[in-house]
Amino acid sequence: MIKAQRGTKDIFGEESLTWQWILDNAKNVFQNACFSEIKTPIFEATELFARGVGDSTDIVNKEMYTFCVGGAQKDSTSITLRPENTAGVVRAFIEHNIVRQSPPQKFWYFGPMFRYERPQAGRQRQFHQIGVEMFGIKDAAADAEVIMAAVNFLKSVGLGNLEVELNSLGCTKCKNDYKNSIKEILKPHLENLCDDCKMRYEKNPLRILDCKDENCQKIFELPEVKEVIMKDYICDECSSHFEQVTNYLDSLNIKYSRNKLLVRGLDYYNRTVFEIKSSLLGSQSAVCGGGRYDGLVEMLGGQPTPAVGFAMGVERLFTLVEKIQAQKIDYFVVSSNTIEAMKLAQKLRQENKVADFDMSARKFAKQLEKASKIAKLAVILGEDEINQGFYSVKNLENGEQIKISTFEELIKI
Ligand code: ATP
Ligand code: MG
Repeated sequence: MIKAQRGTKDIFGEESLTWQWILDNAKNVFQNACFSEIKTPIFEATELFARGVGDSTDIVNKEMYTFCVGGAQKDSTSITLRPENTAGVVRAFIEHNIVRQSPPQKFWYFGPMFRYERPQAGRQRQFHQIGVEMFGIKDAAADAEVIMAAVNFLKSVGLGNLEVELNSLGCTKCKNDYKNSIKEILKPHLENLCDDCKMRYEKNPLRILDCKDENCQKIFELPEVKEVIMKDYICDECSSHFEQVTNYLDSLNIKYSRNKLLVRGLDYYNRTVFEIKSSLLGSQSAVCGGGRYDGLVEMLGGQPTPAVGFAMGVERLFTLVEKIQAQKIDYFVVSSNTIEAMKLAQKLRQENKVADFDMSARKFAKQLEKASKIAKLAVILGEDEINQGFYSVKNLENGEQIKISTFEELIKI
């Protein structure tokens, strides 16, 4: 029997319905934000990725599906199955002279990508990405607009609480100064860095910070090394651009944290970079990665054009959607007094707890049955509890029931 290739997956039945639903949401959210869909070919000239993704990246060095067509004939060309889609979209942007339209030019895409990686949970050889690319705007509002599109889409599929990590790499000049100081401080440790980092040391030292190797990590933790790595190195202009991005995010109520070690795997980023992560995904924790790439259009032969975008891994998104849907809520309030149940659910939600209650005051047994299916704890508000001001809490995993006298204790269980 011939089986599917390692790292690939058939999608059918119920799974295909979830995929459809995820895609419908993407289409809605991105089209509402005026991104139009772009479909580019799944294979391109190898050179596009070598130049566009960068030849110091793992993708270009180790992960590409590259082959020659045309055999020994004179016009044989090396082509590659796309490992990501930014380079292809930029190629199309230049080829069709889209720069002529008034900016911003905003695109979203969905499709399969190919990387020759070791298959494991959250990592396949053929996987899918949903992404957006926006051209023509250098202002921080564009960075915020793109991050907002990612967050809104995640919200639409029930993943509104993921962590956004943010950093600024600065411009070419700040990046160069930083690269030089990193090289200098790591020079005495060069022998002990992993082989990949030895190569990165020459070709793209910033990428060293992205290394997951334990020995390399230990070196980064040395006080004198750490001090240089954590130094604020970006110039005033880049700092103020970054501050504006964070101001926009604050105004939009989008939570983020600064991660100074976030450099991203691709060579082309400058200024803002970001990742959206979830601890529920284990070691493959990133669902989304993106940032600004103001130099790429020019580097691939177009006119200088600022740009910013992101790509999301649909398989990781899919796992999260399933995990979150299967996850039990924190509290279910069981009561025949709907007003009291509603008030308690409200108080719990204000404490950032996930809480629900029965809206039609059904029989206790029915409510408890529902609670045991969907919640970790049932808070029982019978007449005694309401009159005497305490809570009976049933742990729905082990069946134990206890009395709790204050709300503060209730939220600490
Ligand atoms: P990672 O550090 O996990 O390898 P990356 O930096 O290589 O990620 P990007 O190139 O930024 O990833 O791609 C964006 C997103 O695509 C990732 O955040 C992830 O969700 C998804 N992704 C990347 N590679 C794979 C893969 N081999 N299988 C499944 N999803 C992937
Ligand atoms: Mg990778």
